[in-house]
Amino acid sequence: MIVDERIVTFINSLDTKNSEILETIESEALAASVPIIRREMQSFLKTLLMIKKPMRILEVGTAVGFSALLMSECAPEGCRITTIENYDKRIPIARENFRRAGREEQITLIEGDAAEVMKTLEGPYDFIFMDAAKGQYIHYLPEALRLLPEGGVLVSDNVMQDGDVIESRFAVERRNRTIHARMREYLYELKHNDALVTSIIPLGDGVAVSVKRDSGPTDSVAADVNLAECGAAEEIKRQEGTENGKTS
Ligand code: SAH
Ligand code: MG
Repeated sequence: MIVDERIVTFINSLDTKNSEILETIESEALAASVPIIRREMQSFLKTLLMIKKPMRILEVGTAVGFSALLMSECAPEGCRITTIENYDKRIPIARENFRRAGREEQITLIEGDAAEVMKTLEGPYDFIFMDAAKGQYIHYLPEALRLLPEGGVLVSDNVMQDGDVIESRFAVERRNRTIHARMREYLYELKHNDALVTSIIPLGDGVAVSVKRDSGPTDSVAADVNLAECGAAEEIKRQEGTENGKTS
């Protein structure tokens, strides 16, 4: 756990229940040791969806469909969700869970390796939830960027890898070193890619929230035009006036 356990317990103690079907699927998943998003991540995801109100969501990593169902409950009406899973034991359970929840029309499950499936998708998806193999995120990123429209949101889960990511590669178990290097590379890319604005948040197992920038004009003349267009130039003049003792 990367956050003080008492803080997490306190935050989660304030949480209200999910719908009955989500509570049931969550306990079934936990009993079967199927990974699902944690309580604090659930409420963060719900909040992000209420802000963004996406109409098309892409999820990478379905497991048994818990997070897809959670998202379907707080996305706007008419929102469609596509979710990708390659583990054949989980796919029928996910399909059954979508049916139990009456969401099989809204959620499309695509079977296969995410790297391959993503290449075949057309998009755009205005919200992408990345929650599959952590060592693969860096390979999914070019496709995610292609599929995101301007203003689109990319949420990447488990980016702190139980705290491993901050350790030196020599402090990490040998078998985890490739994934460690790739996650660091991924986080660096999220923060340095000109197309994205990213915040890395120590919530749950670490979550990165990225927004795709508008690819508007960037030279200074164009920037002036932009300022004028959004009324900022007027506002600056007005404020300068106020500073000189005038009011408006
Ligand atoms: N989002 C789910 C949990 C996903 S767990 C929830 O919160 O309910 C991660 C899932 O990603 C696992 O079920 C795993 O089988 C799947 N996965 C891992 N690598 C994958 C790949 N390359 N392609 C598709 N799915 C993958
Ligand atoms: Mg996760």
